[in-house]
Amino acid sequence: MVLTGTERSWSVSRSAELYGLDRWGEPYFSINSRGHVVVQPRGDRGGSLDLVDLLKGLEARDLHPPLLIRFDDILEDRLERLHAAFDRAIAHYDYGGRYQGVFPIKCNQQRHVVEHLVERGNRWNFGLEAGSKAELLIALSLTQNPDALLICNGYKDRRYIETAILARRLGHKPVVVIEQADEVERIIAASKDLGASPFIGVRAKLSSRSTGRWGSSVGDRAKFGLSLSEMLQTVRALEQADLLEDLRLLHFHIGSQINDIAVLKDALQEAGQIYVELTQLGAPMGFLDVGGGLGIDYDGSRTASAASTNYSLQNYANDVVATVRECCHPHGVPVPTLVSESGRAIASHFSVLVFNVLGCSGTPGEEPDEETDEPLPVRNLRETLERVRNLESPDTSLMQEAWNDAIKFKDDALAAFRLGYIRLSQRALAEQLTWTCAKEISQRLPDDEIVHDDLRGLQRALACTYYANLSVFRSAPDTWAIDQLFPLMPIHRLEERPTQLGHFADLTCDSDGKLARFIDGGQTKSLLELHTLDPNEPYRIGMFLGGAYQEVMGNLHNLFGSTNAVHIRLSDRGNDYELDHVLRGDTNADVLKMMEHDPELLLERLRKVSERAIQSDSLSISDARLLMDHLRLSLGQTTYLEK
Ligand SMILES: *Cc1c(COP(=O)(O)O)cnc(C)c1O
Repeated sequence: MVLTGTERSWSVSRSAELYGLDRWGEPYFSINSRGHVVVQPRGDRGGSLDLVDLLKGLEARDLHPPLLIRFDDILEDRLERLHAAFDRAIAHYDYGGRYQGVFPIKCNQQRHVVEHLVERGNRWNFGLEAGSKAELLIALSLTQNPDALLICNGYKDRRYIETAILARRLGHKPVVVIEQADEVERIIAASKDLGASPFIGVRAKLSSRSTGRWGSSVGDRAKFGLSLSEMLQTVRALEQADLLEDLRLLHFHIGSQINDIAVLKDALQEAGQIYVELTQLGAPMGFLDVGGGLGIDYDGSRTASAASTNYSLQNYANDVVATVRECCHPHGVPVPTLVSESGRAIASHFSVLVFNVLGCSGTPGEEPDEETDEPLPVRNLRETLERVRNLESPDTSLMQEAWNDAIKFKDDALAAFRLGYIRLSQRALAEQLTWTCAKEISQRLPDDEIVHDDLRGLQRALACTYYANLSVFRSAPDTWAIDQLFPLMPIHRLEERPTQLGHFADLTCDSDGKLARFIDGGQTKSLLELHTLDPNEPYRIGMFLGGAYQEVMGNLHNLFGSTNAVHIRLSDRGNDYELDHVLRGDTNADVLKMMEHDPELLLERLRKVSERAIQSDSLSISDARLLMDHLRLSLGQTTYLEK
């Protein structure tokens, strides 16, 4: 869409369409008639919160952006939807078995998040998946339900295994999943020594094809899992050690964010057959764990592209249930309890990151005054500008031609400058005139014109950098590390046509610290439609669907620490909220200490230096005091820019 300066015929529904909100936001986010983003934390079960009003309330409590707002009701709703989808599929295919999920802790280890999931998941015996000793500790301390599964994945040393064995004695249901061939020996030895064993699972290294970023999670070179021959050896070893009775679960995981349902189906068929074989080898089995991978439609395009999925939650559940049933039935093998380790699908929606824009780099758009002796490229540009201004009707092809000319003359000016024929000030004139041409052309483009390829250059020329009060490395690391796309959009002014194209630059001094890829219905674009800044009203941007993985993957680049975070719960009335938890972000002192600096020592050193400056008359006592005050206060404050 080409942007024009007019406010005519804009509406909130056009904003919803432009930012894709009506596709990826369902059923949690929408726009109200005031042009604000609205959150429906319970999905379509009623109740909503105006995000802008919410933010105002938080600011009144001294909680300013950048701010991570977690909607615990959404987390709950996701959990409910997952279970409802499996329940429907199980009924529809007359499965005759159950679904019993676990939450992979690595997806979001925050205490309030895991606690909440455990508490709310209790009625489904929802369990946890751990991938390390620390995560196992979380899982052990937070689960009380003896029927909830505690899946133990990841590399396992003796202590990890023994902890799991003892946890079974405590009344937990730990399943130690053998992921590496040598783990079986450690399990056997630990079981002998302790005179007890854990429940045992095996992870299959599937050969089925895969796609997407995590495609290498399957196949012969996958990091985890047992090949078929290793699996057979493992079964034999367990049998000899009298532990086959404890082999209860087959696990596979073909990578996160599976985009294409066909890939999942292949894997399910392969795993289903392996499951049947394992029962025929004498293992009691009973559980088939299909791992994670249930994807999120980040761009709302419903395609098999990286930021999307070509299936719904219900499609996923249907395929798991139907395929496993098809594998078991012909062999008369009882269907297993189905387990999934869906992390992304549960945790993505519930947190919204809101950040403010500090300012933007504009392009000089005013026509510069005429000077004497202007060189040829500059004169040519002035003529081009006149031509555009004199156009009778908005003729796109003539405007296209004028823009091409302007670019050529700008390049001419650069060439002449390099050769020493024109001066710096004259080249600056040429640049300024080029921007003026671009502005004049874009203002004349007809409303709703589809962008012609060549005019993209014009859009780029007019684009601005919006300076964002955040660190991409801290709050959206996957956008930098793996080109992940998250929906980004202003959370207000949505009744107003966005007339400016731009991208975001963050606070770090790293040129990678930017958000410059945006969802575009299955494709991506490098510029986002934004509003021109209003000096009287802060401009607020929301980053959505980032509740999974971002917090723990975020780092301290440039020593920007965690942002403030709040947990919001919809009140019973449905239009108000309760602030359940407030988690203050890192202070400057916090991040300094993480790097082994001693804030007190730093202050003392600076005090000494300023004392010397006072002695040598280069600093007044009152200025020294001001400096020390600034330093001391910053230590206790956020690492982000203050309001
Ligand atoms: C990461 C991981 C998961 C979670 O995957 P999602 O795609 O977030 O659901 C589940 N199981 C295993 C073994 C994993 O490594």
